[in-house]
Amino acid sequence: MSSTEYHVNRRELQFVVMEVLEAGKLCGFEAFSDFDEDLFSMTINEACTFAEQVLDPINQSGDREGCRVEEGTVKTPQGFPEAWRQMGEGGWLSMKMSPEFGGMGLPELVTVAAKEVQLAANQSLCIGNTLTTGAANLIYTFGSEVQKQEYCEKMFNGTWSGTMCLTEPHAGSSVGDIITTALQQPEGHYLIKGTKQFISAGEHDMSENIIHLLLARTEGAPEGTKGISLFIVPKYRDDGTPNDVTLVNIEKKMGLHASPTCVLSFGENGNCQGYLLQGENRGMAQMFQMMNEARLFVGLQGLAGAGAACQNAVSYANERVQGPSTLSPGERAKIVEHPDVRRMLMQMRSVTEGLRAMMYTVAWYTDMAQHGPEETREYYQDLVDLHIPICKSFGTDQGFEVACTGIQVLGGVGFTRDFPLEQNARDQKIGSIYEGTNGIQALDLVGRKFGVKQGALLENLTKELNWFDGNPPEDMLVDWVREWESYRHMMFESISNLKRIGEHSGQSAYLLYAVNMLQLVGDVLCSFYLLKQAQVAKLKLNEKLPEGMDLKAYAAESEEAGFYWNKLNTAEYYVWSILPRVLSHERIIRNASLTPLEADLLV
Ligand SMILES: Cc1cc2nc3c(=O)[nH]c(=O)nc-3n(C[C@H](O)[C@H](O)[C@H](O)COP(=O)(O)OP(=O)(O)OC[C@H]3O[C@@H](n4cnc5c(N)ncnc54)[C@H](O)[C@@H]3O)c2cc1C
Repeated sequence: MSSTEYHVNRRELQFVVMEVLEAGKLCGFEAFSDFDEDLFSMTINEACTFAEQVLDPINQSGDREGCRVEEGTVKTPQGFPEAWRQMGEGGWLSMKMSPEFGGMGLPELVTVAAKEVQLAANQSLCIGNTLTTGAANLIYTFGSEVQKQEYCEKMFNGTWSGTMCLTEPHAGSSVGDIITTALQQPEGHYLIKGTKQFISAGEHDMSENIIHLLLARTEGAPEGTKGISLFIVPKYRDDGTPNDVTLVNIEKKMGLHASPTCVLSFGENGNCQGYLLQGENRGMAQMFQMMNEARLFVGLQGLAGAGAACQNAVSYANERVQGPSTLSPGERAKIVEHPDVRRMLMQMRSVTEGLRAMMYTVAWYTDMAQHGPEETREYYQDLVDLHIPICKSFGTDQGFEVACTGIQVLGGVGFTRDFPLEQNARDQKIGSIYEGTNGIQALDLVGRKFGVKQGALLENLTKELNWFDGNPPEDMLVDWVREWESYRHMMFESISNLKRIGEHSGQSAYLLYAVNMLQLVGDVLCSFYLLKQAQVAKLKLNEKLPEGMDLKAYAAESEEAGFYWNKLNTAEYYVWSILPRVLSHERIIRNASLTPLEADLLV
């Protein structure tokens, strides 16, 4: 571990992916029958090495140098084009994608682990990575055979990159307000005209071509989201002709300096060709199908930042000497001795591991929904759908908070550019804004997910949370699980309460404290998944414990036992010292103050 560099905690990944979620068992499904557990481990290990050796070394320099506009294109920082090339060659852009076009065909669970570590090493570069994967996936899923042949392989291997062009200057959260137009031509293609803003990796020097997946309105299309279609708009056409896509500007941002966020003009000269994906007016539905993956990825951005922050902070706290030691009277203390610093480190670690426990499980649910037994696919899809806004929103809010706490652990130097934490916090902040702001995620949770399919998603969550009924806890876990049960009960009570508030005071009142509800559910779920991990860790410890030896003493003398012991600590801390945040959210929801709706906020 280092206070300035990123080193992956491979043991933690091994534990979560292989021991808790038992990735090896996924090989029993036809889609993964060519893999085995060793191959999964090797892939994750290679992803870690790539993150440490290629992505991390250019993270800080990329932030300092930033992107600049030169002769109508964007020059990315030194080392970025080469890292992008290696990313494509290594298959990291197409981990989950079909082998038909050169993808690795890996499970989501393994993909998520690889993505977390790569994001932790370099958020700026990995944003472009994901957008390319997302754009290629749209073409793979909805494109004609000809379109797939033309684009997929080159996007899977990074020769070409991709973007998602939704946002326009006056249409952000409200995508239905977009006005970019698409006029059908006798030859079959469309002419695109409009301006897109905030387009990540919209222009750059890392790939030979850029394939924009763009939302636009065709002639006579219905208003709002019903009248939006999805187009493939390449920077260069297949004969190499420029396609009338112009870079207007790049944003000067708080973070992600090495990721060009572009304003793009399409069709300034009336000559920008777009190729329809599948059919007119299906754009929003197509985007929705890809949304879960994209939102889980943004949640991972928070987790990745949190993971890196934990390492830097723990490492620094074990180096920095300040104040008298209480453990060794007469000596100076490493700051890790001070109770308040210990509390901060424990908070950071518990939240981070809680987020990881939840998000990796959601990746596993995704694999079960897509490749598991037919009869349980809907159940797991419901769980995915319910968890996604929580992963995205809770993940990015908590990840940012962990990075800020990390800055606090370091003290003054945490606020300087000598340590990576300030960049970490700046780079992460965008996670709560893009891919649907966190406020809008909360509306999705309470406004849609709670009620959809006559409440089936919540019913299935109830079943999932009954896990301890079939896996009774032992020893210290009995008390922890009992305590957690009381919060689980409170969560469902609070959901019923919120419904009553909505029935009594209307829709705005129902939505007013949606963010509190999302945070409440986030804490209950993260602690649940951590307790499941603790159960696994405890069983492993029991198996290995030498006869007559105390668990704590064993943990102190064996590195492996120490790892499992730490897992118990993490769950214990979450239950007793983090989960009580739920009480505050529950009370705020129950109080149902309508003041924000009634207050004069004009001044
Ligand atoms: C670095 C960066 C990269 C980006 N990359 C891309 C990209 O690649 N492609 C792309 O298309 N876009 C991209 N975006 C745009 C991003 O998705 C939008 O900024 C985001 O959707 C929010 O839209 P907005 O900025 O217009 O804010 P607004 O929609 O104006 O929202 C402002 C505030 O109002 C709230 N709000 C708005 N509507 C509602 C509502 N109905 N109910 C409750 N609250 C509401 C929001 O939660 C927010 O707090 C990027 C943005 C940035 C900064």
